[in-house]
Amino acid sequence: MIALKLLKPELYAADAAKAGAAVLRGGRCKCGHVFFPMQSYGCEKCGRAGPDLQPVDLKGEGVLAASVTVHMHARPERVAPFTIGTIKLDDGPVLRALLMGPVDDLAPGCRMIAMLTSVESTDLLDLRFVVARQPRRDMEPCR
Ligand SMILES: [Zn+2]
Repeated sequence: MIALKLLKPELYAADAAKAGAAVLRGGRCKCGHVFFPMQSYGCEKCGRAGPDLQPVDLKGEGVLAASVTVHMHARPERVAPFTIGTIKLDDGPVLRALLMGPVDDLAPGCRMIAMLTSVESTDLLDLRFVVARQPRRDMEPCR
């Protein structure tokens, strides 16, 4: 079996609890503020820096706030179309990431989950968000 390497290991890691899923390399300030990605320059909320900011793995789950599909990119090596989502993580931070899977029925409020997927023609894994399967019948479908 070939071990695939992560394209950006400073930003994410495999979720040991869920095959194929990813955790995000975030940070937590002594004041309680949670951020992504990890940095030690200073807390956006209280200004603390250095050792008051500690790395923490964030659950790769959240809610879609917005999405946009790019049909033509200025750099021809970027194969279009691709869809970018703004996702509010359950742990607090908001980030933008590439989405994978069917995107026609996406709408704000969709539950999203971070997955690791192989990058075409490489031995690397990269992060993508996909619509989470609906775990309960009483949840609104994502449309
Ligand atoms: Zn702080």
